[in-house]
Amino acid sequence: MSSYEEVYRRSIEQPEAFWAEEARAIHWHRPPDRILDDADPPFRKWFAGGQTNLCYNAVDRHLEARGDQLALAAVSTETGVAREVTYRELHREVNAFAAALLRLDVGRGDRVVIYMPNMAEAVFAMLACARIGAIHSVVFGGFAAHNLALRIDDAEPKLLVCADAGSRSGRIIPYKPLVDEACARAQSPPPHVLIVSRGLDPAQPRVAGRDVDYAELRAQLGDAEVPVAWLESNEPSYLLYTSGTTGRPKGVQRDVGGYAVAMAQSMRTIFDCAPGEVMFSTSDVGWAVGHSYNVYGPLIGGCTSLLYEGLPVNPDPGIWWSLCERYGVRTMFSSPTAIRVLKKHDAAYLRERDLSKLRYLFLAGEPLDEPTAQWITEALGKPVIDNYWQTETGWPALTLMPGLDMKPVRFGSPGFPNLGYRMKVVREGSGETVGPNEKGVLVIEPPLPPGCMTTVWRDDRRFLDSYFSHFDELLYSSLDWAVRDEDGYTFILGRTDDVINVAGHRLGTREIEEAVSSCPAVAEAAVIGVADELKGQVPIVFATLRDPKADAAAREQAARDMQRAVDASLGAVARPSRVYVVGALPKTRSGKLLRRSLQALAQGQDPGDLSTLDDPGALEEVKRALGNP
Ligand code: ATP
Ligand code: MG
Repeated sequence: MSSYEEVYRRSIEQPEAFWAEEARAIHWHRPPDRILDDADPPFRKWFAGGQTNLCYNAVDRHLEARGDQLALAAVSTETGVAREVTYRELHREVNAFAAALLRLDVGRGDRVVIYMPNMAEAVFAMLACARIGAIHSVVFGGFAAHNLALRIDDAEPKLLVCADAGSRSGRIIPYKPLVDEACARAQSPPPHVLIVSRGLDPAQPRVAGRDVDYAELRAQLGDAEVPVAWLESNEPSYLLYTSGTTGRPKGVQRDVGGYAVAMAQSMRTIFDCAPGEVMFSTSDVGWAVGHSYNVYGPLIGGCTSLLYEGLPVNPDPGIWWSLCERYGVRTMFSSPTAIRVLKKHDAAYLRERDLSKLRYLFLAGEPLDEPTAQWITEALGKPVIDNYWQTETGWPALTLMPGLDMKPVRFGSPGFPNLGYRMKVVREGSGETVGPNEKGVLVIEPPLPPGCMTTVWRDDRRFLDSYFSHFDELLYSSLDWAVRDEDGYTFILGRTDDVINVAGHRLGTREIEEAVSSCPAVAEAAVIGVADELKGQVPIVFATLRDPKADAAAREQAARDMQRAVDASLGAVARPSRVYVVGALPKTRSGKLLRRSLQALAQGQDPGDLSTLDDPGALEEVKRALGNP
C-alpha cells in the first residue's frame, strides 16, 4: 500500500499522469483527448474531449458482475417502508423514470428541479436525468416556497419532480402546496410538475395540463429502455445551490467526467469501501454530501447505499445503529449536529448492537467539537474522521485517508488535503503562506481538482468574484480561517466573516465556542459579537445544557463556568459579556447555526430570511431570553 504522502505528492507534482491513471476506474465511451486543459485559469477542464455518463457508471456498468446485489436500501421510519433495490432493479427503475422525462419533453442540457425527501424515487430521478444528459438541481425537500422559487428562477427548469409529501416525526408535510406556491411566485415556472405520490396526502388537487402523476405515466409507458447520452466530460451534470448561510445561494455547477473520477477514487482512498460493501450516509439527498455519498459515490463504486428518511431518535436513539447491524454497514457518514443529538441519550443504544462490520464514522458540515468527538469515539470504539467540505468542493477537501494509510486522529482537525488539492494557509491581504500554527485563510491554488465546481451556473463573473478575487494571486478562497500545525494537520477556525473585534483584539467566535463547549454541562454553544460602546464588539453566548431539566441555579452555575473557561483558555478580553442558556439553538435544516439571525436579534434588528429555519421554537426562545437577560 502506498503512503498518503507519496500519493499526495504525485497528485500535485504530476497531476496529468496521476489523474490519467485514476480515470481508468470509470467507463469512458470515448477516452479523453487531454487529461487537463488549463488554458483559461481558474476555469479548467478535466478529461477534455472524453465522453462518459454518470448513470452508466453508477448502474449499467455493474449489471453483469453485481446485478443481484443490493444497490440501494431506502429505509423510512416515517412511512415504515424499507425498499430494497438490486442493481438490476435500479436499472429498470431508472430507465422507466428516464422514459417519463423524455415523454415530458426533457432533453440533454435541460434542467430538472427535484424536490423530494430521502426516498428511492429521488435517486431514480437523479440518475434518470444523468442518463439522458438533463441537469438536475435537487432542492432540499421541505425548503419553504420562497427558497424553492429562488432556485426555480435561477435554474429555469423544464420540469419539477416532487413527492406528494414529506414527513417529520410522523407529521405529514404536504409538498404539493409548497410547489404550487413556488410556481406561482416564480418568474419562470416549469411547464410540468411530475408528482411521485406515496399516498401521504391523497386529496391534492392537480393543475390541469401541468401536473402529471408518475405512477400513471409509468403505467402508460411500460418498461422502456432509454439509451445513455454520452456527454463530453465537461458538460454540466448537476446544479446544487449552496445552503445560503451567509448570503444569496449560488448555483454550484458540477461536470461529468471529473466528478465521476473523484467519486470512484474517494470510495477507495478515503471511505475504504469496496464494491459489494455498504455505505450509510445520513445526509439528505438535497445536500452536497447526499449527492456524493448517498448516491453517486457508492453506486459508481458498486457498493450498497443505505438511504434513511427519518429522525436519528425515532423510534428510539438506537435506530441508526440497528440499521448498521441489519445491513452490515462498513462506512458511515454523518454530521456533528446529528451526533450531538444522539449524545443527549444513553450510549447503551450503541453498545447493544453488533457493529463489528462498521469500520469508520466520517463527520462533516461544521466544526466537530472535542467533547462530541470524544463521546462518539469512546462509544463506538472506531475511528471518527472529521471531514472538511464545501458544497463547492463536492467531496472532502481535508480528510484522513484510511484507504491509503490511517493516520492518527487529532481531535479538532479534519487532517490533510485530499488528493489533488493544492491547499495553503495564507495571510489575509498579502496571500503569503503563514508558518506552522499561525492563523490564516485556507485557500486552494488552481487548478481545482476533479470533482470541484466548474463555475456558478450561468455566472462566470460571480464564480470569479466570490472565490478568486481575495488575493493578488489567483487563489480559491474557502472563506474559512485555518491553522496548520507542525505535523501538517489543519484545523478550521471558523468563517472569515465570523470574526469579532473586541477592543482591538480580533477573536474568532469558533475559538470562544470551543472554550465554552469544554464545560461538561454544555451541550452546544453559539458565540456572536454584538456592538458595544466601549469595546467596539463583545462576545455573547447562547448555549444549551446537556441536562435539559437543569434548574435556575444549575443554569447560573453553568453560565459562570462558561465565562471562566473562556478566561482560562483565551484570556479575559474574550470573556462573554452575557451568557444565555436556552433549550435549543436556531439552525438551518442542514444543521448549521443561524448566526446572522442570532446576531441581528441580539442587536434588536430584523433576523432576516428565516425560511431555512428548522425549529421556529428555538428562535422564539432566543427572543424571550434576550428580553430578560
Ligand atoms: P453559504 O456558502 O451559502 O453561506 P454554507 O457555507 O453554510 O453556505 P456549505 O457548503 O454546506 O454551505 O458549508 C461549507 C462550510 O461548512 C465550510 O466552508 C465550513 O465553514 C463549514 N464546515 C464544513 N465542514 C467542516 C468541518 N469539518 N470543520 C469545520 N467547518 C466545516
Ligand atoms: Mg459556503
